[in-house]
Amino acid sequence: MRNIVIGPGAPSGTPGSATIGGVNSPTGSADVRRRNLSLVLRHIAAFGPCARTELAEATGLVHASITALTAELIGSGLVHEVGLASSGARGRPRRLLELAPGRVLTIAIQVTQSRLVSAGTDLSGAVLWRDEREHGAAFGDPRPVVRAIAEIVHEAWNEVRGAGDRKRAQLARVVIAVPGAVVEDEVVADSILLGWRRVDLRSLVRAQDPTVSCPISIVNEANMAAFAEYRALVDRTGRVPKVFAYLRVVRTGIGGGLVVDGSVQTGGHGMAGEFGHIPVSFDGPACKCGDHGCLVTYLGVRALLVAAGLDPDEYDADLERGRVEFDRRLRGGDPAAVRALETGARALATALTAVCRVADPEQVVLGGHLAAWSDWLVPNVLRHLAGRRAVTPTDEPVISTDLLGEDATLRGALRYGCETVLDDPTSVPLVDADGG
Ligand SMILES: [Zn+2]
Repeated sequence: MRNIVIGPGAPSGTPGSATIGGVNSPTGSADVRRRNLSLVLRHIAAFGPCARTELAEATGLVHASITALTAELIGSGLVHEVGLASSGARGRPRRLLELAPGRVLTIAIQVTQSRLVSAGTDLSGAVLWRDEREHGAAFGDPRPVVRAIAEIVHEAWNEVRGAGDRKRAQLARVVIAVPGAVVEDEVVADSILLGWRRVDLRSLVRAQDPTVSCPISIVNEANMAAFAEYRALVDRTGRVPKVFAYLRVVRTGIGGGLVVDGSVQTGGHGMAGEFGHIPVSFDGPACKCGDHGCLVTYLGVRALLVAAGLDPDEYDADLERGRVEFDRRLRGGDPAAVRALETGARALATALTAVCRVADPEQVVLGGHLAAWSDWLVPNVLRHLAGRRAVTPTDEPVISTDLLGEDATLRGALRYGCETVLDDPTSVPLVDADGG
């Protein structure tokens, strides 16, 4: 798994790339050094505490290189020595290395329609700080969100630095996950939910508070959830799908992401993985995107309420209440609710067929309400997909439900931030040169 690299710290993952992350292809000596530091740090992160001999075996690097690289990682405070391991009857005991706790902080902030959900972790993934608050922003006005983000970064930083022995902590990256398309220069191109058009969130945060000087990444929230679900699947099952698709239905719509070779695909315009607006019929219901018959017009919460004979306007102020009522009827065997989800399943199968023809995923993960409705959805989807088996007998993906639930976006954004340091340990300065 070491060669799966994700994050804008990677040479191929700088802003402007069509993917987030990708396998490094070193070209110069600085790149070789960075890559080797990354190899060693990743091994320590995954398997530490470990001895230098183990690092040499695992990375294929000679002992002299391992000695120099580990000295550099110790010098930057990312790694420290802990205890000794016996070398058996002969030879000296070996010193073990592990990640230094609390040295590097990544803050992830998820922007929702009304709230900011945030957390901070060190490189080990240990959560050092958590927060959730209202942002109070009106539709179309990002300024209250920007002010709240600057406050959150300061509060998290002060609290983490003030706790324990963390005076040398460094803020490595702030990752902001937004419900909208993010274009190549990490500008929010469009958020239907927030009413944002071409919002340069990173510049606005810097203008609000120039002391927030660490790298800031702006990413799509569903992409981060896809990345977290991909990582969770790999970690828990050991399966490494080459192409992985994630789709979820939440109160506000349908989102998702595509992960290929461990990298989230953002596409040419930040729109890759926008499964909700795959057209599944020419003359279907009108969609707010301007088209007709998009997947969301069959499988979105509002669409399901209509199909189940519920009045969505009655739930306009609180669509979640409508979703709960739909769910109750579904589980009670209400024929209209069951039929609504059967139609939704057919639309999902049609959209998935398109996804399979273009990207050929081995694994499709259903998240959000799709996971809760999987008993109704999956058999129907598989039946529709099976109808095409004569043409392409082996291309059906494994369909499973999500592993992380609502936490997926924040966890994905945190991991994404940590991966940027694992990609490029030289981004963390020497401890003595700069305490953070
Ligand atoms: Zn649409």
